[in-house]
Amino acid sequence: MDNSNVNEKEKAASRRRFLRSVGGAATVSFIGINTADADDKELQRLDEKDKTAVALKYSHDASAVAESLRPQKDRFCYNCSLYAGNENEEWAGCSIFPGKSVAGRGWCGAWVRK
Ligand code: SF4
Repeated sequence: MDNSNVNEKEKAASRRRFLRSVGGAATVSFIGINTADADDKELQRLDEKDKTAVALKYSHDASAVAESLRPQKDRFCYNCSLYAGNENEEWAGCSIFPGKSVAGRGWCGAWVRK
């Protein structure tokens, strides 16, 4: 085996190590954000005028949303898979709005079945 083959193998191994470390850091960071949201009971309530909230037609009160936007009357934040709380929690985190809490009886257009 000549030196150029050895160097190529070392470079490939180095690339793999780098990608593994970057991937691991990204995963830890992603999990860390979600865990923090789920654990933090003192999240600031989402402002309905927040740019993303407006774009997703979010409302603290799902029953106030026009039927044309929310024809399925059984959809609320508390039964959305992105809601960090349970059915009994009035406010909890939502992975769409990091660092904020949304109303359990709220709704937005990103609703996903639990
Ligand atoms: Fe509520 Fe789900 Fe929209 Fe988050 S994604 S605001 S939990 S409906």
